[in-house]
Amino acid sequence: MKQRFMEALEQEDLSEVAHIPKSDLHSHAGRGGNIRYVAQLAKAKLAPPSGRFATLGEMGDWFTIHVKSYCPGLEGYLLRVQASFVQAAEDGIRVLALNYGLDEIQSLGGVGPFIRTMKEMHSRYAPEAVFLPELALDRGCNPDQVKARFEEALASGWFRSVDICGNELAQSVRCFKDLFRLARNYGVVLRAHTGEFGTAEDVLEAVEELELDEVHHGIAAAQSPLVMRRLAEAGVRLHVCPTSNIMLRRAEDYGSHPIRRLYDYGVKVTINTDDLLIFDQTVSQEYLNLYRSGLMTAEELNAIREEGLKVYGQENAWGRHTSDSAGTPL
Ligand SMILES: [Zn+2]
Repeated sequence: MKQRFMEALEQEDLSEVAHIPKSDLHSHAGRGGNIRYVAQLAKAKLAPPSGRFATLGEMGDWFTIHVKSYCPGLEGYLLRVQASFVQAAEDGIRVLALNYGLDEIQSLGGVGPFIRTMKEMHSRYAPEAVFLPELALDRGCNPDQVKARFEEALASGWFRSVDICGNELAQSVRCFKDLFRLARNYGVVLRAHTGEFGTAEDVLEAVEELELDEVHHGIAAAQSPLVMRRLAEAGVRLHVCPTSNIMLRRAEDYGSHPIRRLYDYGVKVTINTDDLLIFDQTVSQEYLNLYRSGLMTAEELNAIREEGLKVYGQENAWGRHTSDSAGTPL
């Protein structure tokens, strides 16, 4: 598979890259579909954004106006989640983590009906993908107020990881210490969005305070050799999303993306989409973009692809076993 993937990159053969097993471990469920597929289902004319965004808020507004308003409510939400599964299947995603907020669970009538609906979609639209559902808390939430719903969702045993997303600067990660300790007792992988808008020190603080196994984004770590060394030693994986970083002005272009520096320091990285419905680049395109820019070689990109598909069983820096949920290596 290695040779086949490298040749597909070298020949810039997107459809062949799409046929080779890959992972997408950082994707928000309601924003992970292909915009043309969603347009077709919603019977609407939708187009990807024409330029970059200045802030997350601006991105959210664009999404509400240009996508969500054409597929609103519960029906629209389900249509967009369906699109995320379909997209994963079409792009050869064999290990798929979709990120869900507590409100999404509530909108389907609670944990039971929510899980039934998602299981059905998984087996109908992306049966070949190992599915790792992720439960996300909003960085701005009141931890005491969400605790009961958070625990109820974890107690289902269905979620494989937890995350904190939204405005990274809303409040200190320390506010989530109790909830993450609770999550650890349920044996899930601990992740958080950090180091996208924050600093390298913010990444280290989040990793240490919450005892994270993995980080969404974390690219700011590239500014600090010390932080990168700590991440590499602890075996903390960063789920990097190059186009998202460019569109939100966190990186200038593919050719200068910090994934290069992180990789060179031995930090484990994977390549993901974040919000494909907005950023409009598939995992296959993300690999090809990095290859074409000259930032990474085909061999390095294959090593990253294999990292994303790995079966985890080794102990990390916290003395715990990381996710073993990826199934057979592909
Ligand atoms: Zn994200």
